[in-house]
Amino acid sequence: MPETAELLRLDRAHVWHPYGPMPGRAEPLVVASASGVRLGLAEPAHGHDELIDGMASWWSAIHGYNHPVLNEAAREQLGRMSHVMFGGLTHEPAVRLAQRLVEITPEPLRHVFLADSGSVSVEVALKMCLQYWRSLGRPAKRKLLTWRGGYHGDTWHPMSVCDPEGGMHELWSGALPRQVFADVPPADFDETYADALRALVARHAHEAAAVIVEPVVQGAGGMRFHSPAYLRVLREACDENDVLLVFDEIATGFGRTGTLFAAEQASVAPDVMCVGKALTGGYVTMAATLCTERVADGISRGEVPVLAHGPTFMANPLASAIACASLDVLLGQDWAREVRRIESGLRGGLAEAAALPGVREVRVLGAIGVVQLDHEVDMAAATDAAVREGVWLRPFRDLVYTMPPYVTGDDDVAAICRAVTAAAKKG
Ligand SMILES: *Cc1c(COP(=O)(O)O)cnc(C)c1O
Repeated sequence: MPETAELLRLDRAHVWHPYGPMPGRAEPLVVASASGVRLGLAEPAHGHDELIDGMASWWSAIHGYNHPVLNEAAREQLGRMSHVMFGGLTHEPAVRLAQRLVEITPEPLRHVFLADSGSVSVEVALKMCLQYWRSLGRPAKRKLLTWRGGYHGDTWHPMSVCDPEGGMHELWSGALPRQVFADVPPADFDETYADALRALVARHAHEAAAVIVEPVVQGAGGMRFHSPAYLRVLREACDENDVLLVFDEIATGFGRTGTLFAAEQASVAPDVMCVGKALTGGYVTMAATLCTERVADGISRGEVPVLAHGPTFMANPLASAIACASLDVLLGQDWAREVRRIESGLRGGLAEAAALPGVREVRVLGAIGVVQLDHEVDMAAATDAAVREGVWLRPFRDLVYTMPPYVTGDDDVAAICRAVTAAAKKG
């Protein structure tokens, strides 16, 4: 007990937490271990030694924690090497991972840049697009188009394509590069909105390097779903107007929405695609940017015929080996059935929340369940209500939501739904 108190004191004094002030305000829970879908607490909270994890550690731990296959892959790779530089050297884990990513992503994506986080993979994607047009002698094409309500990471250029209003990066709107925004995509297909998208791409074609969007689900920008048909509209508009199309599948990739990648729901392939979050099953940080031969060729034939990007920990062997193991685990089972099972559990379990006072909408897609309130959530009260139910949730803005590991059993899904409902009531 005293040890935990000491940890919390030092944490508050020295350690930044995501989107937090310094010193920290709210007291975090101390996690001592994690296994399966449960977080083991250093000290019981409301009588619970462990909490069912409704967040999958920000949507990444799709197989749960302490997984024997992933553990073994990590141990095995540690015994060989945890890291070597990637300049002038290569290694089996990175090559195998790149090969697998090319196999499972849409066909025209052939080349893989292994980056160290989702935000960096978006930086790399944007650099690829801008450099592509530069190489082709069209340096004026360096603006980015997107729709409002998106989220693409916290580093500078990704911030510029996040929702400019009400988003986390509003503070910087005057300092960031100014990009071009369409309205938030409506949930259902709307021909008027599609026409506006087409017109926007055409109007900015002379200065636009790329359209970048999260396909089907906008995650941290508001947990909204939209018709996959918009992706086809964007693909056509980009082709007609000489603009590249980037899909950020960092949140949606590896089965979360019910298809392996969300873009499959529209049978559309992007020119550049980012994956991250669940790539290593939530074990260590890694992301990837994939591109087509056309993009790679364009860059490699330009005035500076290289992609000038090379993080120190690029293609980290440990992360690559774990990512390969995570793909083995995912693809070695009927993961789509598990996601459908969770989807139906969330639909049933969250249905009654729709009638609660203060609830605007309940929506479920794949292994994503969202309760949107008509007010800003009281984070401390909502989190506390979930912990009382024995569940870990991290609401934000007007949203109480869950993206549980795919291995979450039916009883645990039901418990998560009770916690989301309790958090929506109290929050
Ligand atoms: C989380 C996320 C990112 C940023 O990834 P980090 O690994 O946190 O840098 C980018 N895009 C989307 C869609 C995300 O969900």
